[in-house]
Amino acid sequence: MIQGAVTRFAPSPTGLLHLGHAHAALFAARAGGRFLLRLEDIDATRCRPEFTEAIFEDLSWLGLRWEEPVRVQSAHFAEYRAVLHRLQSRRLLYPCFCTRADIAAAVSAQHGPAHIYPGTCRGLDPGLAAVRVAAGEAHALRLDMARALAETGPLTFQDLIHGPRRCDPTAQGDVVLARKDIPASYHLCVTHDDALQGVTLVTRGEDLLEATDIHRLLQALMGWPEPSYAHHTLIRDGEGRRLAKRDKAPTLRALREAGRSPAEVRAMAGFPD
Ligand code: GLU
Repeated sequence: MIQGAVTRFAPSPTGLLHLGHAHAALFAARAGGRFLLRLEDIDATRCRPEFTEAIFEDLSWLGLRWEEPVRVQSAHFAEYRAVLHRLQSRRLLYPCFCTRADIAAAVSAQHGPAHIYPGTCRGLDPGLAAVRVAAGEAHALRLDMARALAETGPLTFQDLIHGPRRCDPTAQGDVVLARKDIPASYHLCVTHDDALQGVTLVTRGEDLLEATDIHRLLQALMGWPEPSYAHHTLIRDGEGRRLAKRDKAPTLRALREAGRSPAEVRAMAGFPD
């Protein structure tokens, strides 16, 4: 798709790979020149070593080859913390002590959209918030969206499939960049790593188009390069639902055990030889 581009497949080892993953991996591997594999395993409660092993085995069986070393996100929390510190020193983050119940109550009181944080902790006195943090109170770190956008101005990205897109990160409110239980977040790690690894073409499912609005914002704030994007369609089952681990989508392993060849599975994933 772009000759010489650096692409990556970035699964989370939370289950066995299914046809949807095969599609994403083959799409990435065939879209550019250099192909990287990254394990997005920051959520220790959901990731398991046997799924990591299965990722290597299933992708090799499928005929994919990637550059070593594989980046394993859980080994890099210090780097993500350093990014958070830089954003914090620019007063672009604030600690949020809200529980899910607090947020639900505030949202319903304000009749606001359920998926947008109502900003309860944004107005806390910074000194008092710091005391609560120092006392060990559980908190997330949220991006102050208005402040961040005031620094960057309007943002866009180029998508090879969807064309030029104007970003609308405000629609997602003050997103979480470090969770209470995990000291980083998907948005932060994926953007940091794509920049660090020199990924020039980010390929992923079109369900993540809105996530890219946040990623462009982080790139602009941190001075990281802007990659090209290709958000591909998702493979669907017979009823038109997207494949998901929880729905017991056929795993690559099950297909292999049922006697399918790698070429057949590549074709099922939308990439006939
Ligand atoms: N770990 C993410 C996923 O499994 C990667 C998405 C992305 O490519 O940014 O969906």
